Amino acid sequence: MSRKRNRPKKKCKVSVWDSDEPVPRAELLKGVEGAHGLLCLLSDKIDSEVLDAAGPNLKVISTLSVGFDHLALDEIKKRGIRVGYTPDVLTDATAELTVSLLLATARRLPEGIEEVKNGGWSTWKPLWLCGYGLSGSTVGVIGLGRIGMAIARRLKPFGVKRLLYSGRTAKPHAAEVGGEFTPLDTLVSESDFIVVSCSLTPETQGLCDKAFFSKMKKTAIFINTSRGGVVNQEALYQALASGQIAAAGLDVTSPEPLPTDHPLLTLKNCVVLPHIGSATYATRGVMAELSARNLLAGLQGTDMPSELIF
Ligand code: NAP
Repeated sequence: MSRKRNRPKKKCKVSVWDSDEPVPRAELLKGVEGAHGLLCLLSDKIDSEVLDAAGPNLKVISTLSVGFDHLALDEIKKRGIRVGYTPDVLTDATAELTVSLLLATARRLPEGIEEVKNGGWSTWKPLWLCGYGLSGSTVGVIGLGRIGMAIARRLKPFGVKRLLYSGRTAKPHAAEVGGEFTPLDTLVSESDFIVVSCSLTPETQGLCDKAFFSKMKKTAIFINTSRGGVVNQEALYQALASGQIAAAGLDVTSPEPLPTDHPLLTLKNCVVLPHIGSATYATRGVMAELSARNLLAGLQGTDMPSELIF
């Protein structure tokens, strides 16, 4: 007697770049040929060259990120390609990292750790390694979106007195944290801590420039966990080196990785992290699952769990 077995039907051919390192451009251009779907990372620039290489089959791009500045949306839209992304699932992890970076920068933790290791710790000294605290402070959030709001919620219990935010429109949800919608200039000149959590767009590219830093308080701390392109790094270096502002904490830079001989890395008052905002095991797992589900829905022509509408 023969037994019939229900073998799963082969649905699609999957080509995988099986490495933690970014796929080399030439490999991407070759691998994407004829593909119907593409799952990419924020380090993969998806422009017309990649879209041309893929050809007319391509109907969905799923990115393992909430940021989409690496995608040429105009070109993608012209070709009728759908885009999936990963909002919400990384909000808590990124907000947590932002608060960690803010505290580490303001209270000079990397300098302190270094002093313990290199013998610089002699005795308790009244003004040694003093920094700035959040209690009674004014915090300015540039971009009170999902992550900006999650950062504000976490900072308020530290005793923040005023919470200012800027953006294109006032946000009803700001009431929950007592947020005051202000022009950018007001936010910059009145904040003790400035946190950048907006998306990178043509409008926000280079937003934090020489004029921006020159309006900040001398005692203010600048934190960026959005994208490196929002900051003019030469202007930031000058502001930090000249004492125009107190300190900066960056999780994102331009380029990434930041070359090890970059001037910002010579400054004690600049804390640089390697873009680890969403890097918890749980968050990366959920991001991966969501990206896969977005991709499959795009291939099947059904509703995506998280589709970018643009
Ligand atoms: P979101 O909810 O879309 O928030 C983006 C915010 O940017 C919106 O509130 C938007 O305000 C604001 N914005 C846009 N143009 C602006 C402008 N000209 N000035 C001030 N604000 C402006 O996105 P999200 O989920 O919070 O993510 C925000 C960004 O964080 C992402 O785009 C990504 O680049 C970055 N990110 C970084 C990490 C990391 O590992 N460091 C992890 C995740 C995300 P309006 O609504 O008023 O336009």
